[in-house]
Amino acid sequence: MSWKTTWTKYAGISIVLILLGFTSLYLRARPKVQTRTSWKAPIMWELMFDPRVYDKKHQEEQTTVSLTVFAVGRYLEAYLETFLTSAEEHFMPGLPVTYYVFTDLPEKVPNITLGPMRNLTVVWVKKHSRWQDISMMRMKTISDIIERELQHRFTYVFCFDVDQIFKARFGSEALGESVALLHAWFYKLPKYRFTYDKNPESEAYMEQGDYYYHAAIFGGTCEKVKALTFSCYLSIMKDKLSGVEALWHDESHLNKYFWIHKPSKLLSPEYCWDPSIGDKSDILIRRLIWRPKEYDTLRTR
Ligand code: UDP
Ligand code: MN
Repeated sequence: MSWKTTWTKYAGISIVLILLGFTSLYLRARPKVQTRTSWKAPIMWELMFDPRVYDKKHQEEQTTVSLTVFAVGRYLEAYLETFLTSAEEHFMPGLPVTYYVFTDLPEKVPNITLGPMRNLTVVWVKKHSRWQDISMMRMKTISDIIERELQHRFTYVFCFDVDQIFKARFGSEALGESVALLHAWFYKLPKYRFTYDKNPESEAYMEQGDYYYHAAIFGGTCEKVKALTFSCYLSIMKDKLSGVEALWHDESHLNKYFWIHKPSKLLSPEYCWDPSIGDKSDILIRRLIWRPKEYDTLRTR
């Protein structure tokens, strides 16, 4: 290589690194996927960011993170331990994290060895008899605990389904005011295939939207997540009074909410991938994957 080519190459790399350090995001790193929404919220894909820049910023700002997860009925034994042990390895490394585990079986919560600055709190919840209510009523429980406790102690709260396992870094780059996740099965599909609730009687009713978001992960500042969960809970209760239920339960209400209140950051399906999907061409890293669903044996009817 001539000195000129070498120089151009290093100048190019340096400019990219300087830009990355300055903006923390390199939107052109992934030309085959959308990296920004029409309202200019970033969509986080591998290669777009330098994790060290985010970790340094959040350590300096003394960011604290809470994670909520529900393990009710048979979901506890089936999923909770691997969820938590894998989170210890990959969720927000280097930051203080407190897990809030909501369960009807507190005595069965496994004993996990936690790293420094990591805590776990178990909160008893009642077991609703229908799985749809177990899933939907999470909105009320999360809203209540933010009001009661989280808003006084944490900068951010992230809410997770339990039937998944962390496989790689799910770090501070995912933090933001209001964060939504692109659903792995829908991110490549045309909008007319999105399974929004199409019943005008339901509060979740919507004809059009931006994306199809997955309710398995959402998060943000305590204030924003409190507003989201409380609003979804009210809509769910209004639907109950009207005798209707949204097509995909809490997920339908979440999609309606994010259509009206645009999220400030989107996570790509690299943050929640289903390994049974054939086309993996956009997925450079699987940060978290779905565990196999065993509805017949695990769900209460
Ligand atoms: N859940 C639970 N017990 C149940 C049903 C649901 O703890 O009997 C919680 C659990 O955290 C689960 C979440 O609610 O991950 C959503 O339910 P599920 O994962 O079955 O929904 P899906 O991923 O199929 O939409
Ligand atoms: Mn799930």
